[in-house]
Amino acid sequence: MNGPLVEPGSVLGVLGGGQLGAMFAQAATRLDYRVAVWDPDPDAPAHHLAAYSFPSPFTDQKTFTEFAGLVAVVTYEWENVPAVLCERLERTTPVRPASSVLRRIQNRLVQKTFLAGQGFPVPRFAALTEPGRLAEILDQLGYPAVCKTATAGYDGKGQWKIDEPSSVFSVRDSLTASCHSTMEWIVESFVPFERELSVLVARGIDGQTIVYPLVENVHEAGILRMTVVPAEVPSTVVERSADLARAVVARMDGIGLFCLELFLLPDHRVLFNEVAPRPHNSGHYTLDACNVSQFEQQVRAVTGLPPQEVLLTNPAAMVNLIGEDAETVKRDVECRRLLGLPGAYVHDYGKRAIRPRRKMGHVTFLAHDVQTARDRASRLRQSLLQASRN
Ligand code: ADP
Repeated sequence: MNGPLVEPGSVLGVLGGGQLGAMFAQAATRLDYRVAVWDPDPDAPAHHLAAYSFPSPFTDQKTFTEFAGLVAVVTYEWENVPAVLCERLERTTPVRPASSVLRRIQNRLVQKTFLAGQGFPVPRFAALTEPGRLAEILDQLGYPAVCKTATAGYDGKGQWKIDEPSSVFSVRDSLTASCHSTMEWIVESFVPFERELSVLVARGIDGQTIVYPLVENVHEAGILRMTVVPAEVPSTVVERSADLARAVVARMDGIGLFCLELFLLPDHRVLFNEVAPRPHNSGHYTLDACNVSQFEQQVRAVTGLPPQEVLLTNPAAMVNLIGEDAETVKRDVECRRLLGLPGAYVHDYGKRAIRPRRKMGHVTFLAHDVQTARDRASRLRQSLLQASRN
């Protein structure tokens, strides 16, 4: 159901109330929409910015009736919201991206099988439904490899790297210990990537598509730590990545804002790592370095407005503030100096409890050239690391 334009003043529903939902709510409010947030966690940051807030379980029938009656369109801020809920909402209200897109993305096996089946480049992979068959699968796939839960993983959770045959048995035991009846995993060849890249794609209801600049990402222990834009790679890589990203979203018939994560190989081929049907941590630079942020673009796409052309106003580099980093930036002398530089923008997600690996905020450095932005971000990252060791 494509439907007419969702008029300003209408209520936009968002499932999930983390920082991505909160930034969506801010963008929607600026564009004169009201937002209804449904997230079971009453402390989720987006609740504080919502015109209507539903801190109840996703299975709550009363909330379903109220939420469905209120909203003109529904989106979500991450892919682990229940697809069945989106399917039910879709009977009366457009859900963008559609529940069929969500279903295709939220299971890594289904997603990679789809991408490979459509001829898009992905790492070699195999399905695992029985931990006891891990060694056999690795015999075929080779080492090193990564085993991931097919569903519900994020920020590197539910992943095991397997370097050699001698570590297969301990991983198999971990899988068995964490296993419940319908559990499945994807086992992928470990890609010897030169860099990790990602790109945002906004696609409107009429199929009009825009692609943001290609960015470079640095992960540590499975979690994004730093993003640099534009990626310093040959123009052929930029063009090929943009073409592939645009084609994937079109092939899925996706409406909304997507992020495509890629591995760049030493021979300059790219492979897809994963597709996110929503704004992405690596796209936070768009808040300060672009004429239109990824969240505004999400609002535009889900309400039926065409995506807006994107202009990168400055090269930029973003550093995530994770766990204790949120406190370190306030007291560490070098961090404070860096945050005081012109072009440094600090974003605090307003989460009350600091927990290890929890994303608390981020800092974006804008500069005249990408090397300066990168240097400042690297220095901040080093200072945060240093402080965490003391
Ligand atoms: P999540 O959805 O939990 O973020 P990803 O599949 O994106 O999980 O993996 C997180 C990070 O782990 C990636 O950004 C990359 O650094 C590393 N990784 C994941 N899969 C592979 C792979 N097949 N080869 C090499 N590194 C990988």
